[in-house]
Formats: sequence, C-alpha cells, structure tokens
Amino acid sequence: MSKEDTDSNASTRIFGLKRKALDQINLLLGSGLTKRPKKEDALLEGFRKRLATFHAGKWKNDKELNPRRLAERGWRLLDATKKTIKCDACGFYLSSALPDITTVDVNVYNRCLKKVYESLETCHEKTCTAKSRRPNFFPHFNEKREIRDIFNARLDNMKGVRIFEGTEIMEEGLDSTIVTNLFPDESVDLRLKKLVVTGWEKEYSERVRCSLCLRSMTMDVSFVPSESHHSWCPYLDLNDGESQWRRALDAVSHTTTSLSNSLSNARRTLNLSLSSSSLSIE
Ligand SMILES: [Zn+2]
Ligand SMILES: [Zn+2]
Repeated sequence: MSKEDTDSNASTRIFGLKRKALDQINLLLGSGLTKRPKKEDALLEGFRKRLATFHAGKWKNDKELNPRRLAERGWRLLDATKKTIKCDACGFYLSSALPDITTVDVNVYNRCLKKVYESLETCHEKTCTAKSRRPNFFPHFNEKREIRDIFNARLDNMKGVRIFEGTEIMEEGLDSTIVTNLFPDESVDLRLKKLVVTGWEKEYSERVRCSLCLRSMTMDVSFVPSESHHSWCPYLDLNDGESQWRRALDAVSHTTTSLSNSLSNARRTLNLSLSSSSLSIE
C-alpha cells in the first residue's frame, strides 16, 4: 500500500469519525428535527374554543357528559337550557338532554345516555372531519424537546405571578429535586416551577389557568395542583387514566441520563478521532 493510499484511508476515517461526532452533537442540540405541525395546534385551539362554550354556558352534566368528551368530538354548546350542541366541522345539531335521574328508572336513564354517546360519534355529516381528527393532548413530535419548550415558555410567563409567602404548593409524589434539576434558575420560586410541571400557567398576576381544562384558580394557603384541575382534564387523564403531566415530567427528567449518555458517546468518538489524527501525523 502506497503512502498516498494510507493517507487517503486515514483522512476518510477521520472524516467519517468527525461526521459521526457532528451527528451526535446535532442530536444533543436537537437540530434538524421536525416541529409540531400547525395543523396540530389548530386542532387544539379548536378544542379550547369549543370547551370554552361549555364553561360559558355553565354546563352541568359534568359527570356523564363532560365537556371534554363533547368538545373533543367536535361539539360546541349552542343552547345551555335545551342542551343543544352543534358540530363545528359539519354543522349538525344534537340534543344532549337527559331525563332527570331522580324521576326515571336508572335503566331508562342509562339507555338515554348510551344513545347520546352514540350520537356524539354518528350524528355527523358523512365526510365530517371531527369524527377522525381529535386533538392530541401529548406532545408527540420531537416529544422531549417540545415538552421542554412548553415548560420553559410557561415558566418565563409564570415569573409574573404573585404568590403569597405562606402559600404551599402541595403535590404528593412530586419530587422537588427533579423540578429543580429541570429548572436550575435559583432566582425563580420553586412553587412556580411546581405549578408549571403540573399543567398551570399564568392567567393574571394572581391567577393561574390550565390550558387544557381551562380552569382558572387563585391560590390560597395551600394549593394542590392536580386536584385543582377539572376531574376530566387531560392533564389528569390522557386517555386511559394516565396522567399527562406525570408522563411529560418523566419524559424530560430522564433526558438527563440520555443526555449524559450521548455526551459520553460524543466524547469517545472525538477521542478516537483525535488518536487517528495523531496516528496519521506520525
Ligand atoms: Zn361533524
Ligand atoms: Zn386542567
């Protein structure tokens, strides 16, 4: 093998190794990954707008027909007294009125409820998009980065919330160390950080709000973040009982481990690259 061949092999190898290191660094920086499409944001925004109509109409049937279930399937409240709802996408109307449970047989009541449930799915135009396009309550494009972005933006905003000295934010099983590791800025009150990870954002200077169930709260002496959401809030139950905020917190708090793994990999690759370079110099 000629000296030129050896030189060219070494440079190809160095090039390959450096390329690999660059890929790993890019991975760490999260560059080149897809962003959440605008369509997804529009779906979530539509959901919020429909949900707001139920809150505005002081919707009562929270237990059997919670507004999330209705708004997710495209329905908005049109007439609170008659319980008329309308599909945003196809314009179909539906009466969601149920008989008074205290005056009818429980079987009759359940039959009526079942019928309303079915209608929520079937009472749409054939081509209605609301039937197939449900909002996604969990970041699923570039999950960790998206969660971090949401957390950081929310915390930035949360800095403007006035929280009384005596107010305790009590969330069982929420580890303060994990929260502190996630937001190392010591100038920000730990209580605000805890609110951020449990799904709360600033509404006014003394009020916080949930962006998924739209509940607005002031904080008294003690505030239990998870119990302050509406019982049907996606933050508490993503779909099958899994809590959105716990899953999101788990996803990003494990990042530290994978981050250090990726860093070690990058360092090993760079070390190799350096020793190859020195070999080719000799
Ligand atoms: Zn429809
Ligand atoms: Zn909520």
